[in-house]
Amino acid sequence: MNDRMRRAPEPSRRLAGLPGYGRGRAGQSTPFLHRLGSNEAPDAPSAAVQAAAAAAFASTNRYPDLRGETLTDALARRHGLPAESVAVSAGSIVMLDQLVRAYCDPGDAVVTPWRSYEAYPIIVGGASARLVEVPLDAENRLDADAMLKASGSGVRVVLVCNPNNPTGTALGSSELDALIEALPKDALVILDEAYADYAADAATVAASPARRLARHPNLAVLRTFSKAWGLAGMRVGYCLADPDIVAAVNAIAPPFPLPAPALAAALAALDEEDVVAERVTCSIEQRMRLTEGMTAAGLPVARSEANFVWLAVGGEAEAFTLHLRRAGIAVRCFAGEGVRITTGTAADTAAVLAAVAEWGPA
Ligand SMILES: *Cc1c(COP(=O)(O)O)cnc(C)c1O
Repeated sequence: MNDRMRRAPEPSRRLAGLPGYGRGRAGQSTPFLHRLGSNEAPDAPSAAVQAAAAAAFASTNRYPDLRGETLTDALARRHGLPAESVAVSAGSIVMLDQLVRAYCDPGDAVVTPWRSYEAYPIIVGGASARLVEVPLDAENRLDADAMLKASGSGVRVVLVCNPNNPTGTALGSSELDALIEALPKDALVILDEAYADYAADAATVAASPARRLARHPNLAVLRTFSKAWGLAGMRVGYCLADPDIVAAVNAIAPPFPLPAPALAAALAALDEEDVVAERVTCSIEQRMRLTEGMTAAGLPVARSEANFVWLAVGGEAEAFTLHLRRAGIAVRCFAGEGVRITTGTAADTAAVLAAVAEWGPA
């Protein structure tokens, strides 16, 4: 056998050094009693949403909408935007990937506050672009001055997660507007609003995409059905942006982005906004209980506007995670930095606070 026959195919060098996506303890054989590692909603989809998905399944011998038109139209109406300003994808992560690939050439800079969502370095590296990480300030919040300094000419994309994952911290509406206003007009600004439904000023947030897009044609807002809308397993995300940006995404997006049951489930969920609002209220209540309980126990809890809390425990992150795991609680550990705990049911909160009471220097 010569050398040529022995060699295996080698993946692109881009893949070397990509960090990989940590498991939130989902999908393992014996699930944890308290699954607080992936910021999912604790409740199953409503009966109406389940029925809509099941009914759509009956026609899955046919292809679904080419571009998810039934859902893009409904989302356009909901947000008061033209249908050409909406694109859907199998999770907002896929949309982010498409945006970065549509706007970045190899070596282009993508500026983002850091620590932020762990999927960002994978997506940016996978597109052969270069992630420029701008450290958060001492309160774990986005540092607007530092972001502006890092976003000079030549920057192709500025990526802001607000409220931020995993810290839960958020810029207020006017601070965010001022930041977007000051960024270069030729940079694509991607605003990842996966947790917008939990933010402090919900009414402002609901009206914000249409208002912001009218002022900033370089903005793309990402939303998802995976968190407050309770459909993480259905994989539905979307982008709201200027029609030129949506056209660029559609130029590289494969056709038929969403299976028919996922389209039907998302449409049915949009008809039940009151259910979502109620669930968000419950999440925020649990977030307050967790924050108060853990603060009282002396833990450093960041000010969260999402469905999780961030404990900046630094070098104790792994030991604390292990301690919670022994109590049947799965959380997300960022070794050497902190621990992120999703808000679940009242029983989940009680379990976390009971475990916290047992936690202390050995
Ligand atoms: C959970 C999450 C998403 C949602 O991803 P999907 O692909 O829509 O499930 C997007 N961005 C951030 C920051 C998240 O935490």
